[in-house]
Amino acid sequence: MSALITLRGISKEYKNQDIPALSDINLDIYPGEFIAITGLSGSGKSTLLNILGLLASADTGTYTIDGKNLKDVSATEKDALRSHYFGFIFQASHVLGYETVSKNAMLGLRTQNRPLPQRAQEAHTWITNVGLSHRATAHGKELSGGERQRLAIARAMATEPSVLLADEPTGNLDSKNAQLVFQHLQDINASGTTVILITHDPNLASQAPRQITLHDGRIIEDTGHPHRGTPAPNVKPAHLKRRANQSTRPWVDDAADALNYISISPYKALTLIFAFMLGVGGLMTAQGLSATAANAVSHTIATAALDDLKATISPPEASTAYENQTVNTLKEKISTYPGVKTITASRYLSARDLNPSSLPHLPGNFTGTIYAVDSDHFTYLEATVSHPHALWQLDGNQPVAFIGDKVAQELGVGNPNSGNGVLWLGGRPVTVLGYISGSSRDATATSNIYTNFTYGLSSYQAQQMPETELAIRTELGYPAPLAEALPLIINPVAPETISVSTVGDLRSIQRGVSSNLASLVSGISWLLIFLASLTSATTLYTSVQARRTEIALRRAIGASKASILRIFLLEGTFIGLAGGIAGVSLGTLGVLVTSLNLGWTPLISSSWMWLGVTIGAVTGMLSAAYPAYLAAQAQPAEAMRV
Ligand code: ADP
Repeated sequence: MSALITLRGISKEYKNQDIPALSDINLDIYPGEFIAITGLSGSGKSTLLNILGLLASADTGTYTIDGKNLKDVSATEKDALRSHYFGFIFQASHVLGYETVSKNAMLGLRTQNRPLPQRAQEAHTWITNVGLSHRATAHGKELSGGERQRLAIARAMATEPSVLLADEPTGNLDSKNAQLVFQHLQDINASGTTVILITHDPNLASQAPRQITLHDGRIIEDTGHPHRGTPAPNVKPAHLKRRANQSTRPWVDDAADALNYISISPYKALTLIFAFMLGVGGLMTAQGLSATAANAVSHTIATAALDDLKATISPPEASTAYENQTVNTLKEKISTYPGVKTITASRYLSARDLNPSSLPHLPGNFTGTIYAVDSDHFTYLEATVSHPHALWQLDGNQPVAFIGDKVAQELGVGNPNSGNGVLWLGGRPVTVLGYISGSSRDATATSNIYTNFTYGLSSYQAQQMPETELAIRTELGYPAPLAEALPLIINPVAPETISVSTVGDLRSIQRGVSSNLASLVSGISWLLIFLASLTSATTLYTSVQARRTEIALRRAIGASKASILRIFLLEGTFIGLAGGIAGVSLGTLGVLVTSLNLGWTPLISSSWMWLGVTIGAVTGMLSAAYPAYLAAQAQPAEAMRV
């Protein structure tokens, strides 16, 4: 019979050691053996077991398993070999306290990617074999020391290993439980599995058919293989135990593990999800509102651009030709052009100089704007005026005014319901003829004072002559051609002194304003997302530290580095994803509520929603990158020594 495992000249030395942990170990292990390894503490027993179980590699020498030399085998292949050939039982059982007995027993099967029903079946068989079937739904933390060690046996044996490696499994047990565990090991061996047991207990060691004693890293005694040359009873060739029917969904298992980790500490997860939600939600709100606002603003402006233009006529000294023309003749001239509907002249008057108030010399607290206008101005503004029949008086010489509702209220002038009041303007009483309750073209109209153009002009003559603005309402589409002709119409001698603007020109300014605001909000949101990632990274880092032994256990029973990496990356991704989804919902709600309040049409793009969810998931994953990397680097042999 050929050996299952052959070690030749195996040596292992750790740094700062006087004596190597192992020196020139030569060993043949045959299928179906039961070997007890004994020796003083520090003699190299665990090191030997770790090398046998592929948890550590030797410095020199050759290791052959099932005829395969491990010299050229990759780390990933070793993970797979470990998972399929070996079962491990450690002195500390490393049972997962938060999982049920069944789930614990399935851990190795999950590493082997076995189909779910098979996992349940194998785990059940072994839980029953070790006498724990009545505890199947209990959690790991509820078990006694003896029960935990029996569960560790079930976990190791469910994967049907060829070799069971046990490192002082009875070390922490009383003699009765120790004997029970040993009995299980004997039964396991009797059914064909090779068992290698490290023990300090001479009584147990003496019951093993083959005993190897180590001293200072060397084998000083080996009682030898009792069946050398003849197969042991019941032994199945190791290769038959390699599993063919594996499920090919390691990702699903890793995802399930990641979700499981999340569900273990739901409040921690919720806090992280909340943090991502704030970041993504802010980003979504910023984007949604700026798109909505830009849409609302450009819609209004675009409408205006189709039928509105303004010409600014500089003070008279800039143009002698203009001096000779009254505003009225200009208006008449322009009105003959095609498409022109309404022309109105207005001047901006200084509220500081005119100090509007309800009584003479009262310090005013007026916050709006004062304009001198002609009677056509309110048609142009599409304003709602309380006494429209009196508008004609704006073209006369008597000082009159129309004031916004808000002004009447603020200054305590007149009453929109009861007609005339008196407003003091520039030290002179001005009769208030009507009140403006709204304008579809200028939302500020209710805060302004409009007095007559001629009065405004005369009251201002002593001061610096302000610019006159001609505002023209046209049929749809006429502003552009008229804008070109207007300077020549107004001042053929010096057309360059006339500046004409269609409202469309303002569009870029408005966009600039709203995009500045949006970038501020989204800047803050990115900061929130960054902070959320940082918190998540720290939390995951802490949990990787806390789960060191568990990760090592998974590695020991064959989980690949890639699988460990995936579990933690997925945990971060799921948290970020949940935060992203919640954030997109929050952002959408924010945009909806704000838009409804402002009377805008909410603009929510589905591509931005997807982007929000993606940003959440990706930043969540990135936050997990370093903790996941650390987890994947876990050294199983080191952690299992605890
Ligand atoms: P035993 O299991 O017989 O107690 P070990 O195999 O654990 O012995 O240790 C053998 C020797 O190697 C001891 O001197 C121990 O201190 C040393 N050793 C084991 N593991 C490490 C390690 N990871 N780093 C440094 N020294 C180690």
